Amino acid sequence: MNNESFINEKSQVANIAKEMAKLDLVSGSSGNVSMRMPNNKPGYMAITPMGLHYSELQDQNIVVVDEELDCIEDSGVPSSESLLHLGIYQTRPDINAVVHTHSTFSSVAALSSDGIPPILDEMVIYIGGSIEVSNYAFPGSEDLAKNVCKALGDKNAALISNHGAVAVGTNLREALNVSILMERIAKIYCYSRVSNQINPLPASAIEKERAIFEMKRKSNNQ
Ligand SMILES: [Zn+2]
Repeated sequence: MNNESFINEKSQVANIAKEMAKLDLVSGSSGNVSMRMPNNKPGYMAITPMGLHYSELQDQNIVVVDEELDCIEDSGVPSSESLLHLGIYQTRPDINAVVHTHSTFSSVAALSSDGIPPILDEMVIYIGGSIEVSNYAFPGSEDLAKNVCKALGDKNAALISNHGAVAVGTNLREALNVSILMERIAKIYCYSRVSNQINPLPASAIEKERAIFEMKRKSNNQ
């Protein structure tokens, strides 16, 4: 297979990765973006490469791998955090895109094991409720993938202990939007802890908003 394969998917991944970098959700070559390949390629994903600065990233640098993480074409080395992306696709059949960031306020929130309680309406609607922190594991390891999948559960975002954040969606745009929201929530939460005045969302609002989240998920997967 030559490097002209999957050019549409590679271009989508590269565009979202560059947008993520422009938004300051990562620095240097940290963080990574992937999408599940179309149904006729079961187990394949397109993912950003290891160690390339986003300012130099081009569509053809995006790497396509199978479920063993073997490159299916001769195009470079996939992200060192590929196991995390693969783990999420295997445990969440409803998800087609993953954005992993090292954004500042999410990383601050990931220093505590408390996570972020449901404090904003949009958090329940777009993420599914509170945001959990995974148990610590070494970057790139199978344990990290396992722990993050557990923290994610059926929601659209999780914090990675002493590391950063992950956001998922039915497509790349949705996953990036969740990443942006996640960072905004983490920023508000960090500031609220300084002021030490937090009124939680009422339980009745959480219940209604969670119903909207479930409804959106169902309609996305139809
Ligand atoms: Zn990372």
